[in-house]
Amino acid sequence: MDDSATRTDPAAVITYDPGAIERKWQRLWQERGTNSTDIQGATRPFYALMMFPYPSAEGLHVGNLFAFTGNDIYGRFQRLAGHNVFEPLGYDAFGIHSENYALKVGQHPMDLIPKNIANFRRQLERAGLMVDWRHTLSTTDPDYYKWTQWIFLQLLDRGLAYRKQAAVNWCPNCKTVLANEQVVGGVCERCKTPVEQRSLEQWFFRISDYAPRLLENLKHIDWSETTKTAQRNWIGRSEGAEVAFAANDAGDGSGCDIRVFTTRPDTIFGATYLVVAPEHPLVDSLTRSAERQKVNAYRERTKKQDLVARKTSTEKTGVFTGSYAMNPATRQRIPIWVADYVLMEYGTGAIMGVPGHDSRDFEFATEFKLPIVRVVCGERDDANAPLTEAYTQCDLGTMVNSGPLDGLPVEAAKRRIVEILAEQGTAKAVVNYRLHDWCISRQRYWGPPIPIIYCDSCGVQQVPEKDLPVVLPFVEDFKPDDSGVSPLARHEEWYRVACPECGGAARRETDVSDTFLDSAWYFLRYPSVGRNDVPFEKEITRKWLPVNSYIGGNEHAVLHLLYSRFITMVLRDAGHLEFEEPYTRFLAHGHIIREGAKMSKTQGNIVNPDEYIEQWGADAFRTYLMFLGPYEQGGDFRDQSISGTRRFLDRLFASVHAMSGEGDPDPDVMRKLHQTIRKVGDDISRLSYNTAIAAMMEYMNVLRKGERTPHRDEVQPMITLVSPFAPHLAEELWELTGNGRATGSVFDSGWPEFDSALAAEDSIELVVQVNGKLRGKVRVARDIREDEAVAAAMSDPTVARFASGTPKKIVFVPGRLLNIVV
Ligand SMILES: [Zn+2]
Ligand SMILES: [Zn+2]
Repeated sequence: MDDSATRTDPAAVITYDPGAIERKWQRLWQERGTNSTDIQGATRPFYALMMFPYPSAEGLHVGNLFAFTGNDIYGRFQRLAGHNVFEPLGYDAFGIHSENYALKVGQHPMDLIPKNIANFRRQLERAGLMVDWRHTLSTTDPDYYKWTQWIFLQLLDRGLAYRKQAAVNWCPNCKTVLANEQVVGGVCERCKTPVEQRSLEQWFFRISDYAPRLLENLKHIDWSETTKTAQRNWIGRSEGAEVAFAANDAGDGSGCDIRVFTTRPDTIFGATYLVVAPEHPLVDSLTRSAERQKVNAYRERTKKQDLVARKTSTEKTGVFTGSYAMNPATRQRIPIWVADYVLMEYGTGAIMGVPGHDSRDFEFATEFKLPIVRVVCGERDDANAPLTEAYTQCDLGTMVNSGPLDGLPVEAAKRRIVEILAEQGTAKAVVNYRLHDWCISRQRYWGPPIPIIYCDSCGVQQVPEKDLPVVLPFVEDFKPDDSGVSPLARHEEWYRVACPECGGAARRETDVSDTFLDSAWYFLRYPSVGRNDVPFEKEITRKWLPVNSYIGGNEHAVLHLLYSRFITMVLRDAGHLEFEEPYTRFLAHGHIIREGAKMSKTQGNIVNPDEYIEQWGADAFRTYLMFLGPYEQGGDFRDQSISGTRRFLDRLFASVHAMSGEGDPDPDVMRKLHQTIRKVGDDISRLSYNTAIAAMMEYMNVLRKGERTPHRDEVQPMITLVSPFAPHLAEELWELTGNGRATGSVFDSGWPEFDSALAAEDSIELVVQVNGKLRGKVRVARDIREDEAVAAAMSDPTVARFASGTPKKIVFVPGRLLNIVV
């Protein structure tokens, strides 16, 4: 028989019921507007931003909550530190993920998305985030994407948006263009279909114009180093030279210059052939009639390949054009080839082949029996011995077989050859970037229509600002087809429109814009949500931006985080913003796994936050997520371990109920308390949440050692320390202890004062030896006298056993050591 109900354990009288407490406080926060930020009146604004989620049908992922909770703790801590914290959250609801899911389940995204958002909102509120829901947004709201379209026009006005025919990765199954990073191993990342290449007329943004600035500013912003490194590599600055090779210069009129970019101009004496990309505009004129059939077949073949495969393929293929060019350094004739390992997107679409010193060129020259010449030697190398592989080291190399460069180290040779060739007018020093322009067009339905109208008489026209938004129409047949055009192109009733210039019959652009454009500016919108006359209000923006703290995943290091920096710079240049870096501080959080394995739908091991919150409470769940490991690294979610975090909260709850105001607090406990206040504050400000929680748990052990009755002064500050992690429980205990009288929130109370005098260690561990052998350690006051130290040492039973009788001699080193000689 269970007799627990008949026991008279006082702690069992009131037990911690997180479900009831959390519902109560979520209701009170709502009623009292506790989480509403005074956007206009804030005197110490602090913008704590988290990356907004894509509202999937599955609901909130535990990874979302891990990220958001980390941001929420930081935001709540900043509020306790006296800031007016703004912590908004919205939805990144346009894009191919939503659209593909809608197609799969046979529902319309316009019906599906609002349902998903409602479910997300319910889950997010249940998790107890300090979100100001008055300022939420979805990128699919016409009130929002009106301004996404406006931003497109801002770029167009500044010559930063342009149309071009471009080779793109095409997924024949998803029927859309894919970015390079959406192609993995030659197949579509989403549906695993082999990717093809297509040539389409598309809109691009000139982000490459901003490459130097995007790179330079990385020096000044306070971001996770890993994120900055990823951006640096992505932008890919390289210094080199552009060299002109004269082709077919036989005076027959077919001559032209082929310009190549190289980062190794020093090796030009080893350039034994040229390669142009199959798409290079000069291919036609370079191809001699005898070779034309072969070259055309090769170009057709290349079109079927995806761009990623072309970059990573180890197989070297190519064809000779029949033409030659003159190497401006050696004055020798070298053959011109077409090969797919050269891409039009990078550099000039042509390279000089230096097989002696470039691995890809070495393979190519070996395959096609082209000459391989050594022009750089290491210390012990023979300048005339044949190479068995490309010699790519350059820091210790010296030039050989290179005429005027012979004997020079590589770096000096680079500078010298550019000077020499520049005098001849055949080369110039240039800086090149790997970053290429941003393709904006998507041949899909679920996005904001690009605000452009095509008129046969007037050409490309922008939709006048007064006509924005161009509303995405509800169409039943939103499934893309093989035509390569958007489903909107099947709807004449929508795309037939009067030309804004001449009033004649014209046609709307039927592509929609990339979802990364939606997310490139959402942080500007949050504070100004509700203002429909402007995208972001001037004074509000001045007060709240740039974002003080941004937290998100490092998988967004290059696309979203780079695009949003670019858009911010453009808006600043256009006079709409007064800053050019959107996020003062960015921190990349880690990821969590479960029981040692990556979570995935196919594995069936995804943590559903609802179940855990139901069982343990949102506060315990939040605290557990932050206790898993360092926030920047993530951790392993184990079902067994959450109970430990819950016990910690139970214990705090019980301690508040058991505490007494009688007598004085224990100085040792108070010392530990003040050390804990300092540590938790320091740790949270570094986002080191797991160590902050560990410190609070350690303090609870000291507080309740031997189930002692805690003093009120020893317990009260703990309510505030735990509040960023367990906000509902903290509010409840704050109210219970009389602090919450009227309608006060613990979050408006301020962080506990840390008293360094109380925290100071005024006692030390004194090492006690008897006849030079270690026999014990005693805790004594730092300034203890010799006779007191002996007495303290003798109170230790082990010491007393060895040191019985009168000591012959005492050696006392104050603060460190006592040696009793008997
Ligand atoms: Zn696909
Ligand atoms: Zn017109």
